[in-house]
Amino acid sequence: MSADTTSPERGQSFAPGATIGILGGGQLGRMTALAAARLGFRTHVFCPDHDSPAAQVTAVSTVAAYDDEEALAAFADDVDVVTFEFENIPDTTAEFLAAHKPTRPKPHILHIAQQRLREKDFLASIGVPVTRYQAVADVAALHGAVAAMGRPCILKSAQFGYDGKGQVRIAGDTDLREAWRRMGGTLGILEAEVDFALEASVIIARGIDGETALYPPVENRHRNHILDETIAPATLAPSTVASAEGIARQIAQELGLVGLLAVELFITRKGDVLVNELAPRPHNSGHWTVDACVTSQFEQFVRAVCGLPLGSTAPHSAAVMKNLIGDDVDRWRDVLADPGAKLHLYGKAEARPGRKMGHVTRLKPIS
Ligand code: AMP
Repeated sequence: MSADTTSPERGQSFAPGATIGILGGGQLGRMTALAAARLGFRTHVFCPDHDSPAAQVTAVSTVAAYDDEEALAAFADDVDVVTFEFENIPDTTAEFLAAHKPTRPKPHILHIAQQRLREKDFLASIGVPVTRYQAVADVAALHGAVAAMGRPCILKSAQFGYDGKGQVRIAGDTDLREAWRRMGGTLGILEAEVDFALEASVIIARGIDGETALYPPVENRHRNHILDETIAPATLAPSTVASAEGIARQIAQELGLVGLLAVELFITRKGDVLVNELAPRPHNSGHWTVDACVTSQFEQFVRAVCGLPLGSTAPHSAAVMKNLIGDDVDRWRDVLADPGAKLHLYGKAEARPGRKMGHVTRLKPIS
């Protein structure tokens, strides 16, 4: 990586009153726009869908395709700084915007994080521990790779996979042709299955001057491959916390990040830390920070993107965050009746199975 991309951006800072352009209209954009408003910033959301969760809470929004250059140019004209609430934006879109306005994080970071092979190659190249993996381009390659890797292993589509989509576990009796078809039959990555003790994540912010701030590692429990609960902070040995934090700092530094980065981790039974995935934006496992920390991940994201000093990441409470997925959202009345529960809903009209509709945070004193 060149010095240019690893050195912190010697960029401008933006004061309250400025307009932050957000690509993407989901709940992460919504909560970012709310945090921005709290600090006196304006937001302009760019999203292909009508009535997106983020557009509902911002005065200005554009509904257009990500490759609509006319709409992108008008958007760039209207905003002072550009950011993203998800990483699957076409490279050309991010580069187009970066040519017009300060864009944080920089497009090369999205490029790395939006494709699993590039991401793992990057992590391996900087010496960050990851599970064994191999690229697979077709069924014949899959046969060879599974023989070399051993079963069980996990086949994932290299691109556009999230929440377990495009992901197949290859057990002792799994038919490989069928696994290839279920994965989507596109370029894939085969990973050795990690026998983890728990899954965790660390969220780090990095400012324009290279200053970093980390939230404590949290434990993430999944149901049907979708995050179900985050327990904050995670119960981990101090040495495991230190290595998780060291890894997050190293990745943010090597990327030349300005913004927020979530690092998803496997903690093995021996306490080793392996990186599973990166997300260069606010993350579902950081929602607890809204109710339990001095500075939420969304405010921190706004501060970093605007070149402002980072806030304190100190928790004032421990927390359990539970996602409301699909029909879970029908329980909103019961949640409101629970004096210990803090309800967050995302304004999505239709509760499809697997769709994140909201979350509930419950606080506890820090033990
Ligand atoms: P991902 O989309 O890569 O975050 O994977 C979704 C979930 O699948 C993870 O949170 C893990 O629970 C599981 N998973 C993914 N990759 C592996 C692996 N190599 N070993 C064990 N479990 C995995």
